[in-house]
Amino acid sequence: MCCLHMGYPAFNLTLDQLADVETIDVASLSPVAQADLARWVAMPSRLRDGILQQMADYVAPIGATLDGPCTWLDLETKQCRHHQHRPQVCRDFAVGSVGCLQWRAAYVDVP
Ligand code: SF4
Repeated sequence: MCCLHMGYPAFNLTLDQLADVETIDVASLSPVAQADLARWVAMPSRLRDGILQQMADYVAPIGATLDGPCTWLDLETKQCRHHQHRPQVCRDFAVGSVGCLQWRAAYVDVP
């Protein structure tokens, strides 16, 4: 599942934008980014603060290594712990699509 390599919820905005939404020129954003911005401002502040910290601390994986599981993924239930707040990229990723099946195959041995 794609949640196993996302690292953290991938809102379609930069760290600087998410940290200071008042300065964003909303009209210049893509429809996807506008949708994510609306979700971002409606989200509990503790969730926003967590993602800002994760983005600030992010270190790109080296070589072919992928990012680890999304921090919102419950590894036992394989469910998103904040499903109602998930970003657009998660909403657009079709379960059972070619990409989905490829990721499932890549993680077939992950418990
Ligand atoms: S659906 Fe939830 S757990 Fe999966 S990548 Fe998106 S935010 Fe993370």
